[in-house]
Amino acid sequence: MSNNQEVKQRIVKGNKLECNICKHDKFWGRTTLMNTPKMTFFKLDWANKSALNYICNNCGHVHWFMNK
Ligand SMILES: [Zn+2]
Repeated sequence: MSNNQEVKQRIVKGNKLECNICKHDKFWGRTTLMNTPKMTFFKLDWANKSALNYICNNCGHVHWFMNK
């Protein structure tokens, strides 16, 4: 079991993550697989990879991190 869904402050590349929209600083996390048929259709080179999402616990804005 991962504790990735815990709501807490997140650090990205040494910087505290702050919501782009509402400036809230607590996020819950999830990992999203990118291998959807649509992604494969466009032959994006990051297809089949997983992306890390941090979702703002205040407004719900999803922040995407593709180089995890
Ligand atoms: Zn927010």
